[in-house]
Amino acid sequence: MTSGFSLREELAYFRDLGVSDLYFGGVNGAAPALVPGSMPDLPALQSFIAGCPRCKLAGTRTNIVFGQGNPKADLMFVGEAPGRDEDEQGLAFVGRAGQLLTKIIEAMGRSREDVYIANVLKCRPPNNRNPERDEVASCKPFLHEQIRLISPRAIVTLGTFAAQALLETDEPISRMRGQWRTIRGVRVMPTFHPAFLLRSPERKKDVWEDMKIVRDYLAEK
Ligand code: SF4
Repeated sequence: MTSGFSLREELAYFRDLGVSDLYFGGVNGAAPALVPGSMPDLPALQSFIAGCPRCKLAGTRTNIVFGQGNPKADLMFVGEAPGRDEDEQGLAFVGRAGQLLTKIIEAMGRSREDVYIANVLKCRPPNNRNPERDEVASCKPFLHEQIRLISPRAIVTLGTFAAQALLETDEPISRMRGQWRTIRGVRVMPTFHPAFLLRSPERKKDVWEDMKIVRDYLAEK
């Protein structure tokens, strides 16, 4: 085909050749790379990601979980990846761990609507396995663009993986939690994942100590 044809004409051309399925990217297929700083707002970024084929999780997800909350939040929570409930509903942190996260947010004197909640990966790894390096490399630019657009004063990373992926470190969460880090000028507080707290409720007090540090920082003008 040559330029000068409308999309309709091009589709008709392929149909006449006997092509029944046109493949726009597909799993691991080509898709335009995100140019950092190019998205005007979150809806534009969400549209850009729609149908994303950029890693193999595209082949197993039900829904892309973009993230949700206040687009101008001063506080952002970042987890690892969607789980089963999130994959089914297309929303971040809606399962049991999500309910505990809601309680943590409310204990800080906030509501879920005040903050923004997202994950490093926008699609669920099969059987909730750990994210793989290539998946993180493909998806993390979307998170960075989200952070740029929201421009929070603080980010709380939930669990080992989110902290290590965002801060690009191999340090264990037990050493990172409770201490401010910085990424691109934004303060980052690593803490435990709510799913871990469901298994180890005795660690809730550690998370509460971490959240008090965040709460107090955000209360400063
Ligand atoms: S995990 Fe991210 S990069 Fe991979 S398919 Fe989903 S949205 Fe695209």
